[in-house]
Amino acid sequence: MELSLVIPVYNEEESLPLLFDTIHKALDSIPRTWEVILVDDGSSDKSLNVLKTLAEKDPEHIRIVAFRRNFGQTAAMAAGIDHAKGEIIVLLDADLQNDPADIPMMLEKLDEGYDVVSGWRKDRKDTYLTRTLPSNLANGLISRTTGVELHDYGCTLKAYRREVITGFKLYGEMHRFIPVFAHAVGAKIIEMPVNHHPRRFGETKYGLGRTLKVLLDLFTVKFLLDYSAKPIYLFGGAGFITIGISTALLLFLAIRRLFLGVSVLASPLFTISAMFFIMGFQSILMGLIAELQVRTYHESQHKPTYTVRETINIA
Ligand code: UDP
Ligand code: MG
Repeated sequence: MELSLVIPVYNEEESLPLLFDTIHKALDSIPRTWEVILVDDGSSDKSLNVLKTLAEKDPEHIRIVAFRRNFGQTAAMAAGIDHAKGEIIVLLDADLQNDPADIPMMLEKLDEGYDVVSGWRKDRKDTYLTRTLPSNLANGLISRTTGVELHDYGCTLKAYRREVITGFKLYGEMHRFIPVFAHAVGAKIIEMPVNHHPRRFGETKYGLGRTLKVLLDLFTVKFLLDYSAKPIYLFGGAGFITIGISTALLLFLAIRRLFLGVSVLASPLFTISAMFFIMGFQSILMGLIAELQVRTYHESQHKPTYTVRETINIA
């Protein structure tokens, strides 16, 4: 199998038949074997029935994974990726906002040697104030924080070589960070402007609240990127800083006692210094526990701490 499309579906009954027509139109003319994996994310409308009917008509291409309840878009995408057989995995939305006609061009980019082609909704058709503007701000922040310069993390339509996205798990709302994780394993990424259409049927499942989650996720991602292999650097660093502050306070108190005769206990500074010392010591100990966990994580699953592109003359 050369190409797998992965599509999360949550209450999109009206869009699905049209979605298939556009996918067929886009892919029938290219000489590759392909499949579509649709993950029904616990829809409460007739989406699953519609999917089953379509799968009966086209068993060669259509595969379905149906969740027991709504687990969210990220979980649906993860399940689709888990079941995908293709060497190339393309993610897109079910609501016709992404355009499958963009896919052949994305494949050409992958053929040029890129590992990720990231769709960019340059002319985005969503409400400006609650969706596009916060998303633009979040994109800028993510780019700055992670060092992966992309205009549109939120656009689902992206194409990946399978080996750069199958090595990690996705939690919470993390699908927008897939390119960041791919970059962390050394993927070559290029951006491509793609079509975007206003929603025709149903309604968006998201609002402004999503941006907050993105910010919190960014903390986790930044931590994982920079410290997941060496947490003691972060915890130990914080520990040294607090112990440093504690020592400076103690010194100040000692000097004041010696030269000015002011009692060490005359102000709360001594207590504060002791608190800082304990915090710093705890932080270093936490770093050590985190180091143990990192070792358990890598060694229990035989996960290497590096990624290899290719080997030569090695069996
Ligand atoms: N979706 C999903 N589970 C959810 C919410 C959304 O599988 O809990 C799917 C939805 O059916 C669509 C895609 O994720 O295919 C994007 O959702 P939506 O169009 O509502 O997001 P927007 O385009 O407004 O960002
Ligand atoms: Mg949408």
